[in-house]
This record gives sequence, structure tokens and C-alpha cells, in this order.
Amino acid sequence: MSDLKAFRQEIRAWLEENCPQSMRTAAKLEEQVWGGRNISFYSEDSRVWFERCVEKGYTVPDWPKEYGGAGFDKKQHRIFEQEMERLNCRPPQMNLGIWMVGPAILEFGTEEQKKEHLPKIARGEIRWCQGYSEPGAGSDLASLQCKAVLEGDDFVINGSKIWTSYADESDWIYCLVRTDPTGRKHDGITFLLFDMQTEGVDVKPIELINGETHFCQTFFDNVRVPKANVLGEVDKGWTVAKRVLEFERDMMSNMESTVAVSGQSPRTIGQKYLGDDNGRVTDDVFRHAIAKHEVNRLAMELTPQRMVDEYTQGVGDPTVGMILKYVGTEEEKRKYELMIKMAGEHCLGWGDDISELEEQLTSEWLGTKTYSIAGGTSEIQLNIIAKRALGLPEK
Ligand SMILES: Cc1cc2nc3c(=O)[nH]c(=O)nc-3n(C[C@H](O)[C@H](O)[C@H](O)COP(=O)(O)OP(=O)(O)OC[C@H]3O[C@@H](n4cnc5c(N)ncnc54)[C@H](O)[C@@H]3O)c2cc1C
Repeated sequence: MSDLKAFRQEIRAWLEENCPQSMRTAAKLEEQVWGGRNISFYSEDSRVWFERCVEKGYTVPDWPKEYGGAGFDKKQHRIFEQEMERLNCRPPQMNLGIWMVGPAILEFGTEEQKKEHLPKIARGEIRWCQGYSEPGAGSDLASLQCKAVLEGDDFVINGSKIWTSYADESDWIYCLVRTDPTGRKHDGITFLLFDMQTEGVDVKPIELINGETHFCQTFFDNVRVPKANVLGEVDKGWTVAKRVLEFERDMMSNMESTVAVSGQSPRTIGQKYLGDDNGRVTDDVFRHAIAKHEVNRLAMELTPQRMVDEYTQGVGDPTVGMILKYVGTEEEKRKYELMIKMAGEHCLGWGDDISELEEQLTSEWLGTKTYSIAGGTSEIQLNIIAKRALGLPEK
């Protein structure tokens, strides 16, 4: 038996034995386990699942063991993900530290920074948020103005960030600041890591139309951060920032595994609302749309797999990864449009007049609208693909 086959069997057996049954369904929002100083568990099973994964390094399977991971290489990691998907296992911990800043620390951090931050992320002790966008700097992120001035061994930060998801619940922030206002706007940006409890940090939640306060505006008033907390080099933070955006876009290319709480697909919704006694969707147009979605979904599953295979063989086109966020999030939006159309009148209500499933579906459908904004809008992704992957002229 090949090493990878044996590895797959070992992972499969471990998951079968250690993932509690109730952790084998999509987690509702209130059931998700977000790491951090205030970590809480919805149920005893979620605590057990989290602790077992931490012990094996499975909250960050592809990180080195010395930093809390399992040390899996790319192929092993892919197998691990496939086996998790096979049983529909929930992620044991959610954290921007896992998806974004952790991988950046692994790539750009000093040994001291790795030892300080990575094990705490792996063990779910610190929750991170992202301080990139500003009122005047979203798509044009390099125009950011939040300023940091070096005074002795500290940077002193003044300014604000906006749309900082869950800043009010996070422990640390990774933040882009302007350290040199002269020269090209992409230069003179520094990538800083600091504790949200530092004096001078103030967070104001922004109330959304549905009453949630997921977003915050984050203010910095003479916040002192040691120079040692710079990730990468002073004034060269744009390189780190772009890499983190790549991690974010990778993560967002597969939002289904993170946020699809209802666990529904166009096929199940079609069968439920438009199926005959045998569960066959009778409407030709919808049947065609369901088939099209399933083919696209399969292509979305296979493409990253092909990328990993090509990467390990030293061949392949590195620009393929650039399309994934755009294609994945747009397909996810089309998928929900299709499900909402098939559910028809059942998904028009809100509150008491519709079932929990229908409310969930409506809420997820609305949520997908943010996918093509967060992490860089679809228009910006198309610009990046045009310029960097296809080499098209700018004008
Ligand atoms: C759910 C969600 C979570 C988020 N979380 C965070 C977070 O935690 N931290 C953080 O820092 N930010 C966060 N953001 C902010 C996000 O990164 C920005 O909203 C995004 O980059 C777009 O910036 P903007 O909102 O300023 O829109 P703008 O940049 O003002 O864009 C407005 C419109 O113009 C279009 N446009 C702009 N420039 C161009 C161009 N050159 N070519 C073609 N079209 C263009 C855009 O595509 C868009 O349709 C989050 C956003 C969302 C929706």
C-alpha cells in the first residue's frame, strides 16, 4: 500500500473514532467555535472535538509540529481535508489567525514571532482581526492613511480602520499603517501586530440592517506598539499585505465549507419544492440549472486538487489560483439565487411566518452578496486576472 493510502486510512480511522456525531453537520452561527481569550463552547461535544484536534495539531494540520500543527505536507493536507469533508466534520476552530495572519507569520515572521503567536492560534487562545480597510481605502487599499510614527522603540499609531469584522470580539489585530507618506503609495506601508487591549484602541460596532453588529470601526489614538511587532520589514508591509490577501482569497474560494449552515444544495431544494413523488425535479429549466451548478461545483473541487498535484510535481501555472476566489464566490451567489428561485414563495418571509430552514436559506442567500465584496471585490479580482494572469494592457 502506498504511503498516501496508508495515511488516508489512518486519518479516516482517527476521524471515525474521534469526531463526535453531533460535530458531523454544518454548524449554525451560534454553534461555531471561535478561538480567543473568551472562547466558549456550544456543547460538550464541541469542546471535546476542539481539544482532540488541538492535541493532534489538527486545528492547523499543515503547520509545523513545533508551532502547534500536525506537520502535513500539501498532499497530506488535501487528504485530511477530503476526509473531513467525507464525514462532514465541522472545523474545530474558526480564527483569522488560522486562515490569514498565521500563514503570513510562518512566511515572514522571525523565529521569536513564530514561537510567540503560532502556538496560541493553534490552541485557540488568541483571536485575530484584520485592520486593512479605511473609509477612503477599500479597493484602493494602498491609499491608506492610518499613520504610525517611530518614537524610540515604539510606533505611535493614529487613525482609524473600518469594516473590521469582529474587532469587538478579537484579542489581537494585524494592521496596515502608513510609516512613510512620501514616495509611491505602495511603499511606506508597514504591517503591525498588536493587542486590542493596548491603551488608545477603541472599537465601535456598526449596526447592520438585520440588527447584527458584525462590523466595527476601529480607532487608534496614540497607540504605542513596539517596533519588534513589525511583521516583515518597516515600509515594506505591502508585500506581506498582498500575501495575506492571497490567503484570504484562497479561503473565500470555498465559503461553502465555512458558512453554509443549512447544508442545502440546489438538488435538495429542487427535490423538496419542485420534486415529484420520486424526488425528480419536474421543471426542465431548473433541472438543467441544477446540473450546471453540480458540474461547476465539481470543477471547483478538482481545480485546487489539480493545483496541488501540479505544484508537487513542479509543473503548472501559478496564476490559476487567482481565478478561484472570483469563480468560487460568484458560483456560490448563483447557487443561492437558484435555490431561492426554486423555493419561491417559501423564502419570501422573515421571522415567525417561515420555517427555520427557510429563514436560514434566506439569511445565507443574503450573506452570499458579501462574498464578492469582502477580500477584494469581483471587479478587482477581474482586474488582477486581466493584468497578472492574462498580461493584458491596462488601457
Ligand atoms: C463581509 C465583509 C467583511 C469584511 N471584513 C473586513 C475586515 O475584517 N477587515 C478589513 O480591513 N476590511 C473588511 N472588509 C472590507 C472589504 O475589504 C472592502 O469592502 C472591499 O475591499 C471593497 O472596498 P470598499 O467597500 O471601500 O468599496 P470601494 O473600493 O469603494 O468599491 C465600490 C465599488 O467600486 C468598484 N471598484 C472600485 N475600484 C474599481 C476598479 N479599479 N475597477 C473596477 N471597479 C472598481 C468595486 O468593485 C465596488 O463595486 C469586509 C467587507 C465585507 C463585505
